[in-house]
Amino acid sequence: MRRGFFKSLIFISVSVIVLTASLYLFKDGVMPDKPVQVQSPIMISAYQSRNSSRKPVLIHYPIDPAPGDFLILEAGPFPVQEPYQLDLGFPGDVLEVYKAGQSFYFLTSVCFDAEPGDYLASFMVGDEEPKIFNLAQTVRIAEKEFPLSRFSMPAGVTEGWTAARLAEDREKVRIAREETEPYPLWNRPFLWPLDARVSSQFGAVRIINENPPRRHMGIDLAADEGEPIIAINCGTVRLAEFLLSGGYTVIIDHGVNLSSTYMHLHEINVEPGQRVSRGDLVGTVGMTGYATGPHLHFEVNLGQAAVNPEVILSRDMLLIPSGYIR
Ligand SMILES: [Zn+2]
Repeated sequence: MRRGFFKSLIFISVSVIVLTASLYLFKDGVMPDKPVQVQSPIMISAYQSRNSSRKPVLIHYPIDPAPGDFLILEAGPFPVQEPYQLDLGFPGDVLEVYKAGQSFYFLTSVCFDAEPGDYLASFMVGDEEPKIFNLAQTVRIAEKEFPLSRFSMPAGVTEGWTAARLAEDREKVRIAREETEPYPLWNRPFLWPLDARVSSQFGAVRIINENPPRRHMGIDLAADEGEPIIAINCGTVRLAEFLLSGGYTVIIDHGVNLSSTYMHLHEINVEPGQRVSRGDLVGTVGMTGYATGPHLHFEVNLGQAAVNPEVILSRDMLLIPSGYIR
């Protein structure tokens, strides 16, 4: 009797573990491709704004932004068509604005030198006093230290480089990041481009060969030469060629001004104009261009502005609500 009870208890526990494990397995990549209805808080709130008569709110996500991070402010729903005004309250920039249903979504960045603390963001609708809506939200900026490093690069790395060629490369990158589809090309969370440790974080300050200090506008992922690099999500290849500083470089447009950049590749496996799926092979880890060891320099950009890739890669967020109106 007692033994039977324990047997069924073990059976139930094992079933629960197997079921939970399979849910995790199926969560990412194994299930057939289909639109995800509700994936992140942004999607949920966008969904709610279209389907309920809730009171307008101003909310932000992620809730604990740090200097150099980006965050989304959502304001709505507003059943009126009136001029609006957003005051971030914290030192930062608005990079993109979207409208979904009756709500507004502001993709913003926090300045690198923002002091940690509480700031009051506000959103007002209407151009006369009193305002039709007047919403406020406290945004707490966390403390973050950016490491300062000094290192030297051998002169041979930049041999034969000319200012004109560097300017030409910068222009190619600018144009590649400008070309975009007006809708999101993805519907599932973003993947890491490479299974490797972050060897240099976003925003780190570097002094190379006694040059003026420069911020690192991507993350470095250290790995052996030849390791496969994958597309973090679906998109269109906008650039795939050799650049002096970036070495073999790939830029993928994911729509709505969001792009990912992969640099110092050993080999490129895609062509400009090619459509790629989430997880497709982009190339392999190398040390071409301005690099002394094999690693992937990886960037995420909103338009021309570089944002912290770890916020997208680690947070399971989709950034943009489904059914938004530009
Ligand atoms: Zn780098």
